[in-house]
Amino acid sequence: MAKTIQAIRGMNDCLPTESGKWQQVEAGIRQVVASYGYQEIRTPIVESTDLFKRSIGEVTDIVEKEMYTFADRNGDSLTLRPEGTASAVRAGNEHGLIYNQQQRLWYMGPMFRHERPQKGRYRQFHQFGVETYGLASADIDAEVILLSARLWKLFGISDHVTLQINSLGSNEARQNYKDALVAYLKQHESQLDEDSLRRLESNPLRVLDSKNPQVQALVSDAPSLLEYLDDDSKAHFALLCELLDNAGVAYEINPRLVRGLDYYNRTVFEWVTESLGAQGTVCAGGRYDGLVEQLGGKPAPGVGFALGMERLVLLLDTLEKIEQNQPAADIYVTALGDDTRGYASQVAESLRDSDSQFRVMLHCGGGNLKKQLKRADKVGASVALLIGSEEMAAHQVTLKPLRGNGEQVNVALSELPAALHNVLSV
Ligand code: ATP
Ligand code: MG
Repeated sequence: MAKTIQAIRGMNDCLPTESGKWQQVEAGIRQVVASYGYQEIRTPIVESTDLFKRSIGEVTDIVEKEMYTFADRNGDSLTLRPEGTASAVRAGNEHGLIYNQQQRLWYMGPMFRHERPQKGRYRQFHQFGVETYGLASADIDAEVILLSARLWKLFGISDHVTLQINSLGSNEARQNYKDALVAYLKQHESQLDEDSLRRLESNPLRVLDSKNPQVQALVSDAPSLLEYLDDDSKAHFALLCELLDNAGVAYEINPRLVRGLDYYNRTVFEWVTESLGAQGTVCAGGRYDGLVEQLGGKPAPGVGFALGMERLVLLLDTLEKIEQNQPAADIYVTALGDDTRGYASQVAESLRDSDSQFRVMLHCGGGNLKKQLKRADKVGASVALLIGSEEMAAHQVTLKPLRGNGEQVNVALSELPAALHNVLSV
């Protein structure tokens, strides 16, 4: 036998046992974004490597060690997108969606990062995200947070996620803070790991984002960003807090929250859960007022977030807040004897015509009654329609309930939809 080929490590198949759960989550997301007037944008999965280097930042985990980058056949450096914001800004600039305009956009799709695969962390994963452009005041920061909160409400998990917020201030305020942070970290250099020492030189704020517990402990006593905020950012943050209070959305202010990407300023936030173990951040985002210009557009403010779909599906599954997959079909149409196949197919099609809610599977490939009923049972159908030459001649079917103890009955074709509604209660 030939050697089997397997999927790439960290890249998952979504099998029929799982895909129904994803469809429920995707449908919920589509419903919520529509209710806020957001429109979908779809961008390519592959972009120029430079796009991500320039936006996410050279000294970030993503760009330093996680990107899938390769040379195209003509030597151009391309990268499988590790996130969606850079692409949305690129597309918005390219097609004139941003300059002098307001946009509320959303996207959903696969992202790629070469990380160590573990529960909630994969190499191909999926994000749903929103991006808004042209809106500078904190009302939009509050809106995108409310939009995410509405998702938790819809899925019944509001009690299982908490919101953390922080402000990174203006570039200038952040620079002042950086100096204070570097001075503090230099006093404790011996407690820093190799990564943090490197970052201390190249991008000190990144040290706050370290996952190393010893570094985290050190960082918890570091000077706080909030003490260095400029007045405008302070007012912006105060308005955000007021709007969240007003809307009844609880939050925790976490002055160490900086996020793993360089383009943020002012508001940053994360929704975190205790129910997923180490990979507890379900959704994260913030404001990125400099990014549009940094990527070659005329300056325009931006705010957005990205939600990890695998983590959300896992969370909903763990908390039993999602329906397990339904059987593929409720109604199984048999065809007993070769000459009944055409008639059986007509019956199946006419049922689909009569009610789009009917989920009908037609037996294909022949075989005796026992074999066909076994199939019906295997797919989880509730009713089998037995169709032999007698039924065909009389324009009838024999309706056989497969679950419970209902009786088998003959039904005229014209009565069939009503009879099925009765049995299936749809
Ligand atoms: P983390 O700290 O968990 O590495 P991050 O800061 O790298 O997250 P973002 O780039 O902000 O994450 O992405 C937003 C969300 O996408 C995360 O909060 C998470 O839910 C999800 N996510 C990020 N990386 C992965 C991954 N490798 N596998 C699955 N989901 C991911
Ligand atoms: Mg990461």
